[in-house]
Amino acid sequence: MINIAIDGPSGAGKSTISKILAKKLNITYLDTGAMYRTVALYVLRKGVSVNDAEAVEPLLKEINISYTGDALDKHIHLNGEDVSSLIREHHISKAASDVSKIPAVRLFLVDMQRKIARENDVVLDGRDITSYVLPDAKYKFFLTATSEERALRRCKELKEKGQVFEYDQILKDIIDRDENDSKRAFAPLVKTPDSIEIDSTKMTIDEVADYILSFIK
Ligand code: C5P
Repeated sequence: MINIAIDGPSGAGKSTISKILAKKLNITYLDTGAMYRTVALYVLRKGVSVNDAEAVEPLLKEINISYTGDALDKHIHLNGEDVSSLIREHHISKAASDVSKIPAVRLFLVDMQRKIARENDVVLDGRDITSYVLPDAKYKFFLTATSEERALRRCKELKEKGQVFEYDQILKDIIDRDENDSKRAFAPLVKTPDSIEIDSTKMTIDEVADYILSFIK
């Protein structure tokens, strides 16, 4: 199986690039961040704190994640409900980052991610794919950009979805989330020594995709 692992901080362009790669290579795309977002949504709906590991753990067995659609327009379902748009709400980002610190949550989702990677040619993006989920993946990339550029991109993306936020607020949220994701004890965001680092700050989406493809072809 071809496994392409892409890690990096929020807003670096991982999901846009991964979709292009999946299309060009005609393989599956797995957005692992969407899985953490879906768990966060369920926990919030249950009225449980995303920081309360003891209360979150028993909820995991109630969660069934499934997909419809193709690589380019994949929809994620939570117990049969399409939550693809709901999980993109801005407040879910922080909740996902908090819930993802809980080791039981990570193990629950990592199991699913590894199974999908075993059975499919897939490009996966996330924070711990190169370091923890698939350390032996053949292709490993670390995609980054300055926090200012990532905040600009995030503001634009949210605006397109009708969610308008101040740039300064988004920049602060991005910096806080980077710190949360990099400093957690279990499977934090790191660049592994064998990942190819790409700083996309001054690159177009196509340039990044072509650069990655140059390693894969
Ligand atoms: O990629 P996205 O911003 O949608 O991810 C939401 C959150 O999920 C991240 O901030 C991170 O805390 C968590 N996450 C993770 N491991 C992954 C993917 C996402 O911890 N592989």
